[in-house]
Amino acid sequence: MSPTATASTTTTATASAGEHIAAIEEHAAHNYHPLDVVLTRGEGVWVTDVEGRRYLDCLAAYSAVNLGHSHPRLLAVAHEQLDRITLTSRAFHHDRMAAFVTDLAALAGKDMVVPMNTGAEAVETAIKIARKHAHDVRGIASPEIVVASGNFHGRTTTIVSFSDDETARAGFGPFTPGFVTVPFGDADALAAALTPSTAAVLLEPIQGEAGVVVPPPDYLPRVRALTAERGVLLVADEIQSGLARTGYTFAIEHDGVVPDLYTLGKALGGGIVPVSAVVGDADVLGVLTPGTHGSTFGGNPLAAAVATEVVAILATGELQDRSRVLGAHLHAGLGALVGDGVTAVRGRGLWAGVDIDPAVGTARDVALRLAAHGVLAKDTHTRTLRLAPPLVVARDEIDWLLAQLRAAL
Ligand SMILES: *Cc1c(COP(=O)(O)O)cnc(C)c1O
Repeated sequence: MSPTATASTTTTATASAGEHIAAIEEHAAHNYHPLDVVLTRGEGVWVTDVEGRRYLDCLAAYSAVNLGHSHPRLLAVAHEQLDRITLTSRAFHHDRMAAFVTDLAALAGKDMVVPMNTGAEAVETAIKIARKHAHDVRGIASPEIVVASGNFHGRTTTIVSFSDDETARAGFGPFTPGFVTVPFGDADALAAALTPSTAAVLLEPIQGEAGVVVPPPDYLPRVRALTAERGVLLVADEIQSGLARTGYTFAIEHDGVVPDLYTLGKALGGGIVPVSAVVGDADVLGVLTPGTHGSTFGGNPLAAAVATEVVAILATGELQDRSRVLGAHLHAGLGALVGDGVTAVRGRGLWAGVDIDPAVGTARDVALRLAAHGVLAKDTHTRTLRLAPPLVVARDEIDWLLAQLRAAL
C-alpha cells in the first residue's frame, strides 16, 4: 500500500464531488469513464448527488434497476433476509432456494434454473452447457457456437474472444476458439454458418451495447426455425433486454420465439445484489451433474430472496404493460426529434437508442448537457445516446425528460 492509500477525507459525509472524484481516479483502476456526478441516494426513478442535485436516472444501471431504486418491497425482503442468513454455499440447501428456482422457471415457462451471480457468469454457464450438450447428447467432438457481430455478452476472456469491439478485445489474447461470428439481423448468413458441429446460436434479441439495435421482424423466427431443424440450441441473452424492459417479460416474446436457454441478470437482482441465471428445460440443463459447474455465491439466500420478490413483481405483468404503453409515448416523443438534432431512434418499450446528429455534438456531449439539465443517460459508440429509465417512471416524467433532451440538443 502506498502512503497515499490510507484513510481519506472522502469517508466523511461532507466531501465534495471533486474530492470524491480525485480519490476515485487515484485509487480505482481507470476501466470506466463516468460522468462527473457522485451519487449518494436513489428513490424510484430519481437519484441525488453528494451536492444535493437531483437527476432523473435514464440509464437505470444498464437496466439492472428496472424496478426503480429502493423499491420498498425489495428493501423489506432484503432487510429481513440480512438479519437471518445470507450465505450457505451450495454445499447445503437453504430455505430461499425452492421459491426462487420454482418461480423463476415458471416466469420463463421452463423447467430449471442454474443460479449464478453476474451476467458474464450466466453467459459463460450457457456456453458451457451448450458445449457439454453438444459433446454428451449429440456426440460433437469440437462444438462451435455462432454469435452475432456487434454483440455484447460480458467481459471474461472467453466472452471477449468473440466480441468484435476492438477496445474490449485488444491485448487480452490468446482467445478462446470455437466461435463463429455472423452479421446480426441476417438469417441467410446465419443459415450458411450452421454446420454439423454447431452446438448453439447465442444472440441478444435486441443488441443493447451496440446501440439498442432491433433486428428485422422475420429474423428471430427464422433463426428459431433453422436451429430447431438441426437440433442446435438457441440461447437468448436477455440480461439487458429482458425482465419487462421492452414491454414483454423477454424481448424475444415480441417475435413469438421461445429459445432453449435464457441468460438473465441485471434486473433479476432488483438493483440490490448481483443475481444471474440460466433458465432452460431439464433435457438441456440435465447435462450438468455434481462437480461439473458451480459458484460459491450463486443462488445465495439473500440473492434468492430478493430475486424471488423481483419475479413476484414481474409475474403480475404490470411492469411489462407500463413499459409497452409508456414506451410508445417515449418513442413518439423521440420520433418527433428526428431532424432536430437526432438522426434516428431505435428500440422497444422503455428502451431507446437515440442517434445524435454530429452537428450538435457527440452522444457524450449530449449526455453531459443532459446531466446539467437533471437527466442521467449514457452514450454508446460515439453517436448513440441510450435511454432506459426505471420502468416505474411516470408519464409526466417522460414528458419532462423529452423537454430536457430537446433543450440539450
Ligand atoms: C450487461 C450484459 C452482460 C454482462 O453482465 P455483467 O453482470 O456486467 O457481467 C451480458 N450480456 C448482456 C446482453 C448485457 O447487457
